[in-house]
Amino acid sequence: MTKEQISSEEAIALENKHGAHNYHPLPVVLNRGEGVYVWDVDGKKYYDFLSAYSAVNQGHCHPKIINALKSQADVLTLTSRAFYNDKLGVYEKFVTEYFGFDKVLPMNTGAEAVETAVKLVRKWGYEKKGIPSNQAKIIVCENNFHGRTVTIISASNDSVATKNFGPFTPGIVSIPYNDIDALRKELKDENVAAFLVEPIQGEAGVFVPEDNFIVDAYNLCKENNVLFVADEVQTGIARTGKLLAVDHFNIKPDVLILGKAISGGVLPVSAVLADDAIMQVITPGTHGSTFGGNPLSSAVAIAALEVVKEENLAENAEKLGKLFRDGMQELIKQTNLVKLVRGKGLLNAIVIDDAEESSTAWDICMALKENGLLAKPTHGNIIRFAPPLVMTEEQLQDCISIISSTILNFEK
Ligand code: PLP
Repeated sequence: MTKEQISSEEAIALENKHGAHNYHPLPVVLNRGEGVYVWDVDGKKYYDFLSAYSAVNQGHCHPKIINALKSQADVLTLTSRAFYNDKLGVYEKFVTEYFGFDKVLPMNTGAEAVETAVKLVRKWGYEKKGIPSNQAKIIVCENNFHGRTVTIISASNDSVATKNFGPFTPGIVSIPYNDIDALRKELKDENVAAFLVEPIQGEAGVFVPEDNFIVDAYNLCKENNVLFVADEVQTGIARTGKLLAVDHFNIKPDVLILGKAISGGVLPVSAVLADDAIMQVITPGTHGSTFGGNPLSSAVAIAALEVVKEENLAENAEKLGKLFRDGMQELIKQTNLVKLVRGKGLLNAIVIDDAEESSTAWDICMALKENGLLAKPTHGNIIRFAPPLVMTEEQLQDCISIISSTILNFEK
């Protein structure tokens, strides 16, 4: 520890005293990251099995992305959209070709991109579909997680996220995830503009829908002139073993929402992609953001997306994900503490056989931390495992050993 370096205790105390208590972090204070590893202030090394909620898919401080950041930071960082800059158009061409859409609307955080998509589909609903003024509806799924703004939590059924934050935004209808009949019923309403869905529910605990749900939902939307909106803020950018999670189902959403790993976790960069017939409802003054599409983000996002293809991250996630789930299945045979493992690619979760309110999953994460691996419970008894996609097979096998031995010892 250098002289200027504050201790873990000091860093935690500062956050507790001066920061709002809107998170409950694991008590580890990090000050360095490289690839799949992070280090705490005492120099202890950990495997990162959260990747900043799937933002650091390309690994911590990827040299190519950091170089793009540094080079651009030296010349121009922000112009606002009051003027053109020489990077945004290049990025817009690159990102639309990369994902196969006519246009992109650049924003910063995931929640902002979801808000943007909500505005886009409502405007499309009024101007293209002919929904009467202020009557547009959006169908969402129970247990969704789309972010934290008032409109977005209006779509949430999580009482922690919603309690005492009302009144909520109207025009949102919720159906159970995976329930195609419920969707069919709600789509009978001609005022529905869009169906907003996570192709795999990440925050809810990595719920993979039944095989046909996404395809059937997509087809029903087409039959009813309703936009299919995929929120891939967490599942996108190679996380699930394909570039996009919808690629598992061979569909192209009408509106695609991306965030997090589009910048490799270096800056807040998000994007809403759609074809012209939809995106042309957005005109000057109807939407915007001072930082959205800034030259620094544009340069970083191009580098981050190039890394995904150059390093075959989707293929690696697919291959390692299978090995990980196989490893967890072996563990399940040896312990009653883990009920099941589920996921796709390197977005996986194990369900601990205990009440949702119990602290067992948290205690296991604390034990994993002691053994050099960082993961976080989601929804009480579920532990999500989402390492950077640059992991090697050898590193993954090491991690499977750490997780298995920690959980087997935990029982004793
Ligand atoms: N949508 C999904 C599917 C997410 O998982 C998240 C964050 O976890 C968001 C939106 C919100 O992103 P942000 O935290 O960048 O606002």
